[in-house]
Amino acid sequence: MSELFNLESEIVDRVLKIPDAFREFSVPISVAKRIFGLDEALRSRLLDLGLPHRGTARDTHFDPLDLENIGTFLRLPALHWSAMRLWSRSLAKPRSRQQHPTCQVKLRWKCPAPGHSGECHFSISPEFKRALGIVSLVGKKSITLDAVIENRAHDFGLALDPVIREAGTLIYHRLPPELIDDTGFLREHRLADCRSATGHLVHIANRSGLNSRPAWGLFMAGPYPVIHAWPEIEQAGAWVPADPFFLATLQQWDVLSGTDWPLSRAPQGVLWRLGVKGGLNFHIVYHGQGGASISLIARWQE
Ligand SMILES: [Zn+2]
Repeated sequence: MSELFNLESEIVDRVLKIPDAFREFSVPISVAKRIFGLDEALRSRLLDLGLPHRGTARDTHFDPLDLENIGTFLRLPALHWSAMRLWSRSLAKPRSRQQHPTCQVKLRWKCPAPGHSGECHFSISPEFKRALGIVSLVGKKSITLDAVIENRAHDFGLALDPVIREAGTLIYHRLPPELIDDTGFLREHRLADCRSATGHLVHIANRSGLNSRPAWGLFMAGPYPVIHAWPEIEQAGAWVPADPFFLATLQQWDVLSGTDWPLSRAPQGVLWRLGVKGGLNFHIVYHGQGGASISLIARWQE
């Protein structure tokens, strides 16, 4: 058996742990190739291994999250893998020596399903509204926000060991919304994304005597911030981010140095906290009951 075959069968085994009911099967072959890097030979090998799909041999459809997870794991030349490199570059170079570097974030939204009947109704999520004091999106297509980012160096040292050990048992896998708060799924399969890992690791931290809470906000990855969740731990009266699962994941992907970023070190100068809560399953901008398509662009003030 070749190493490649082993990797491909490992990721298909992981993907198969996600119940079929949570799949969308919205990605046709052409998009799988162009956006997710799934060429014909790989597609055929993954289908032989049991990759979930719908349709006929000529008109096969796949689930976008499955393809994203496969692309990241196999490092396919796809958009998502390039994004990971941006994330680590943002971490590797703390932006400035300012205590609170500032940055403007432009948030745009649009219809996720153009051509539907009736008008589009956009609204901002209650959490985002509370965090930023935004009243209404009516008549707007974008808003610009002033981000305030904590940029303080901190290392938790040995106190974080129980959390780091537990984070080491988890495997990063983007999950469908239905599984984000499913602790049974996490304990059984050890697959977690930042949101479900955060809930779990906060629990572990609190059990080991630390005072911890879940936080969510934006990870300021270069010019393209992404929504992220991370545990925070109280240190001398201040809440400090602790994100060993995310750091370990970037190190496993070989995009972040373990020497520069030991897992006990607080991510610095890259996190904009917008809220504090569990069950981190929501959209920033809603389109009716579902999520709108959004894009975020950051401009730093050096
Ligand atoms: Zn619409």
